[in-house]
Amino acid sequence: MKSQQRNRITCKHCDRESVVDGDVFQWEGDIVSSNVMTLGGRLYVFTCQLCGNANIMYEGINFAAGLSSPERMANDIEMIQIYPTRKRNKDFVYVDEKYINEYNDACHVLEISPKACAVLCRRIAETILTDECKLKGTLEEKIDKFILDKSPPSPLLEYLPSIRLAGNRGAHEKRDISGIVVEVEKNDCVILLETIEMLFDFVFMQPKIKAEKIGTAISGGFSHLELLIHL
Ligand SMILES: [Zn+2]
Repeated sequence: MKSQQRNRITCKHCDRESVVDGDVFQWEGDIVSSNVMTLGGRLYVFTCQLCGNANIMYEGINFAAGLSSPERMANDIEMIQIYPTRKRNKDFVYVDEKYINEYNDACHVLEISPKACAVLCRRIAETILTDECKLKGTLEEKIDKFILDKSPPSPLLEYLPSIRLAGNRGAHEKRDISGIVVEVEKNDCVILLETIEMLFDFVFMQPKIKAEKIGTAISGGFSHLELLIHL
């Protein structure tokens, strides 16, 4: 069943807010017995007024048979963004494709599994520190050495250790003192993804940008002293 709905949305493509008439596609699930139905759902398609790109959201709803309006149930799925999942903040032109692919994978699973997202972020960070920065030891030791040797700027400095902790929490069950399993939250993963972006910037982007500036300055006839002042 298709209907229209007017909503105020913040577009995930351009990050701007607008009021949009969107399409809502609804299905009510299958009847299992006289009053039990499988989980139904709604798909919302909103085309941003400002940039023209589509935003697609999904929510899972239990349309229990016999009820005039759907009732919220414990197993419902809250509204999640299906497309686009997350827009990367920058174009990482100097970052190796293998890291970009893993970063995109981490972005794709953010909404449906923060645990998987945290594990992927941990893996990206560890591979960069091992393969690009040539650091050895446990991930904790590599992070300590990276911070000591490279003096990364804040907040990369503060957030890098949390990638290891959140990644471990995603991979292994961890309980708090009252025995409750500590889950990785979506908001934690947004910070982890931003930390990976900062790591990309620091390890891949900045050295290349600096090298390009030096190359341009040398070809422009700068003296060594002028170079120091210029850079
Ligand atoms: Zn937009």
